[in-house]
Amino acid sequence: MSLRTRLWLVLAALFLIPLVVGALVIVAVVPQARSERVDDDVRRAAAAVSAQIADQCRLLGLAARTTALEALVTSSPAKAVDMVVEAGYVDYAALLAPDGSVVAQAGDKPNGAGAPADLPRCSQDSAPAVAVLSEGVDVVDGEVGPATAVVTRTVDRRFALDARTRAGSFGDVVLVADGSVVAATTDGAAAAGVADAVEGRVGAVQTNGWTLWAVPPGPGVPYTVVVAVADASDGPNAALIAAIMLAGAGAAGLLVLLVARGLSQPFTEVTEIAERVAQGDLDAAVAADDEGEAGRLGSAVNQMTGVLRRNLSDLESSRADLRSSLERIGDALSSTHDLDRLLTVVLDTARATLAATAGVVVYRSADQLRLVAGQGFDHEEYADPAEPVVIDPGAGVLGRVVTTGSAVRGRIGSGADLQPAGAEPSRGDVLAVPLRSMGSVVGVVALYDRVDGRPFDAADEDALGTLVGQASIAVDNVQLHHEAQRLSTTDPLTGLWNFRYLSMSLAREIERSTRFERPLAVLMLDLDHFKAVNDTYGHHRGDTVLRELALRVQEQIREVDTFARYGGEEFVVVLPETTVEGAGQLAERICAGVRREPFRYENEEPLHVTISVGGAAFPEHGSSPATLMRAADKALYMAKGKGRDQWHIAAT
Ligand code: GH3
Ligand code: MG
Ligand code: MG
Repeated sequence: MSLRTRLWLVLAALFLIPLVVGALVIVAVVPQARSERVDDDVRRAAAAVSAQIADQCRLLGLAARTTALEALVTSSPAKAVDMVVEAGYVDYAALLAPDGSVVAQAGDKPNGAGAPADLPRCSQDSAPAVAVLSEGVDVVDGEVGPATAVVTRTVDRRFALDARTRAGSFGDVVLVADGSVVAATTDGAAAAGVADAVEGRVGAVQTNGWTLWAVPPGPGVPYTVVVAVADASDGPNAALIAAIMLAGAGAAGLLVLLVARGLSQPFTEVTEIAERVAQGDLDAAVAADDEGEAGRLGSAVNQMTGVLRRNLSDLESSRADLRSSLERIGDALSSTHDLDRLLTVVLDTARATLAATAGVVVYRSADQLRLVAGQGFDHEEYADPAEPVVIDPGAGVLGRVVTTGSAVRGRIGSGADLQPAGAEPSRGDVLAVPLRSMGSVVGVVALYDRVDGRPFDAADEDALGTLVGQASIAVDNVQLHHEAQRLSTTDPLTGLWNFRYLSMSLAREIERSTRFERPLAVLMLDLDHFKAVNDTYGHHRGDTVLRELALRVQEQIREVDTFARYGGEEFVVVLPETTVEGAGQLAERICAGVRREPFRYENEEPLHVTISVGGAAFPEHGSSPATLMRAADKALYMAKGKGRDQWHIAAT
């Protein structure tokens, strides 16, 4: 259920419950109070009417007494009755003899009421079903004349109306005796209905359409007096109430909708934005202009989106860094055969990838660790490994990585594996992994101190291990390449340069000498009677002679000279910066060096070996490799011709 629906329900309940309660009050309680009030009014009206009738009875008594007195005073019964009727208090007056016969009478004798002597007296008799109210007195002096005075009043509609008026009452008055209507202010049928309803009952009587109050007969009132009020049809108007309620409910509903909408709208907006963010739209932002909870929620969502955006852009840029690192290292690994450059790129990439402050690569050569690359050591807290230092395997952090072949990670100085030596950094964090080639440890890649200050962890060690593992393959490739190159330019028997290398070297040297106008000489060497050595001592012994010769000549020449096996038992030495004279002196030394000692081999017979040497110089004897070599060859031929074991320089 949505927030808006819930709010709607809660608010609707809050608004509608009072509305319903109010309506119930109007419909149920108000009519009740109203009917109680009507009951009260009707009771008082009935009592008032009843009191009026009692007054009428007393009035009749006075009239009877007046009639009797008048008859005595005037001694004229006829005058007395006429006077009383004419006064208008009674409808009929009579003076009776002791035997009940009428002495005198005036007015309208009541119909069906029997003889005047038998008329019921209102102060004494109760409930006569006669529409006549009568009263009588006995005359005091009864010797002569009348003995009793009787007066009556007709109880009819006029009487009832009169009683109601005198009582200041309202509603309809019905006088009932013995269950039948004696007189009423209303028409016969309605009055009969009232008489039926109050049959035998007194007090409040509720009947269909009427509210009644019945006062029982009493002194002076020989009838049951009933006041009837028709029930108000204008009580609470149900239709009006329904309409008001409906309008109220409609207004409440509308208000509730507006309030629910107003309350839920900011949350709906935030929800929509959050959904857009979830779908990847990180530019979506909540217009957080509200200061309440919704506003705070909105700004929190905006902040979250901002953090996401920043992280994403960091991620993208670090991915770009990684890609460029991979590209660089890929290029380096696949193309370079320069070991130092390759290891520098590996260090570069490792530092960038693991965010290390500094790093070094050391490479094993001749039982020492040579520093190949050092980066980030401009800070004073480090010793400077950029200095040309060498570390002994086994010493310090790097030396131990080489001997144990396992990675080291931790704080420098905090453990046996982490004791620095020599020029190694003496504090901070270090992560060092071994670099392998052809199955053995050939170096170490070490990183120092992460930029963010946190120590290197296992994941860093894995990453560096993987990177250096890839580098190891490249190092293998470099080694293989170097070996292949070496094999393609060296002579396997003597280890000297081969003819191929000699050709390249000679061409290069001639070009250099030409450009800088520097002297250059070549010597061509040939073993004397070498065929005989082979023939006498075998080919194997001949090979040992060739190797020994190579060593003896090597002792005589300089580092910059190129000494190559030209083919068979012939050799060539290329001598940069050497003149004809210099070449002659060297040729002499070489001949002497070979001649000086017999060539020994194990227990075999020592051999006396000699060589002949022919020399030529640039540019005197030739300015191209071919002409120069031809001149040297010719000179060699001359030396052979002159008897061997000697040298000869080409003629200019
Ligand atoms: P000369 O004094 O005129 O140079 O006589 P020589 O016997 O040295 O010259 P020749 O050209 O007749 O013989 C060269 C010999 O060198 C022939 C060949 O058997 C031998 N030879 C060439 N290359 C090798 C090699 O690699 N090993 C051995 N053991 N002998 C070789
Ligand atoms: Mg030869
Ligand atoms: Mg020879």
